[in-house]
Amino acid sequence: MRVNPNFAKFKEDYVYVSVKEKLTQYMQTHPPQAEILDLSIGDVSFPLNQGVIEAIHLAADQQGKMDTFHGYSPKKGHPFLVRAILENDYQAKGIPVNENEIFISDGAKSDVAHIQDLFAEDITIAVVDPFYPVYIDSNVMASRAGEYDEKTHRWSRLVYLEANEDNAFVPNLPQQAVDVIYLNYPNNPTGKALTQSELQAFVDYANQHQALIIYDAAYEAFIQSAEIPRSIYTCQGARNCAIEIKSFSKSAGFTGLRLGYMIIPEDLVYEGQSLNEMWARREATKFNGASFIIQKAGQAVYQPRVKAEIKANIQHYLANACRVKESLIEAGFVVYGGENAPYLWVKSIHEQSSWAFFEELLNKYQVVSTPGSAYGTNGENFVRLSMFAADGIIDKLIKRLKEL
Ligand SMILES: *Cc1c(COP(=O)(O)O)cnc(C)c1O
Repeated sequence: MRVNPNFAKFKEDYVYVSVKEKLTQYMQTHPPQAEILDLSIGDVSFPLNQGVIEAIHLAADQQGKMDTFHGYSPKKGHPFLVRAILENDYQAKGIPVNENEIFISDGAKSDVAHIQDLFAEDITIAVVDPFYPVYIDSNVMASRAGEYDEKTHRWSRLVYLEANEDNAFVPNLPQQAVDVIYLNYPNNPTGKALTQSELQAFVDYANQHQALIIYDAAYEAFIQSAEIPRSIYTCQGARNCAIEIKSFSKSAGFTGLRLGYMIIPEDLVYEGQSLNEMWARREATKFNGASFIIQKAGQAVYQPRVKAEIKANIQHYLANACRVKESLIEAGFVVYGGENAPYLWVKSIHEQSSWAFFEELLNKYQVVSTPGSAYGTNGENFVRLSMFAADGIIDKLIKRLKEL
């Protein structure tokens, strides 16, 4: 048996594995001085909302009775959830999406990684650097990224759109023809959110060049500012060039339950083929739907009481982000993000490599961050701090920043 040769092209371990290794090394060589504060991983800390738990119990009971038992989910998801999404996330905001365009999934990572089943092998893909690694790695596995250059840390067939301090993390439009553009706003890791006109520029570009935008909106629920669009379909012409991907993970704490959805407008037709129909065919072949119980949990997220509590959780994470950001700035750091997203993007004072900066933060404050280089070359000199951490950790971090 010959294996997929693309796996041998991956140079570094998945970054969290490297972070764990560094941390283990550190703990073995340093006597415990203070509690280690882990702000590296992008998982939530609040438990699930009570209304969600009640829905899970109820759905579990239904599954045990002959007349309420549910087997396989309908192809695109249970109508009760599809309609809740449509009404709350789109119709209530006047955003043009219809019921047939919503596909329920087991989370945004699966959708982001699998959507490339619809692309030809030789297309050109653009990613914003820094990036969510799945956009690249999933295309590497499918032979679409070319070869990795150890010097530039870039893949030969990918087009990189720079997002750095010089352009305030608003990436430039592609300077050459590309077929697919992955966008993620509000952004992980920089915390940047694009305004309506900034996003519109990408939509206009895509329509002019018959390109497709994969819009990963996993952090939409964190948007606070009125000038930040809540869906790419608020942009003129986006229904002709964009797929939108959403998740219940970061908003409602479903990282362990697994639920997301994807919008594929019926207007998306390339070479006479409807992407909506192609994806339906793809799902019928490779996916049997999200669990009934979890879809019931997802429906509960839209109950007014649950919605209010989830909103409060998000406000809480963002309030923590604001406090940490202030303390970091007082301590002399340059800090981005944290306003419409749960991440702070922190710059090294001495322009160190991001791994050196990671080690400095570990040594000085016993704080675990994620080195920015894990997200691309524009991540050098930066680390990401996750504000999903529990309050106790946030409070201790602020205290240490003030003392040292
Ligand atoms: C966390 C995250 C996801 C994955 O979400 P799941 O629904 O848990 O799979 C997707 N995209 C980005 C940018 C993320 O940060």
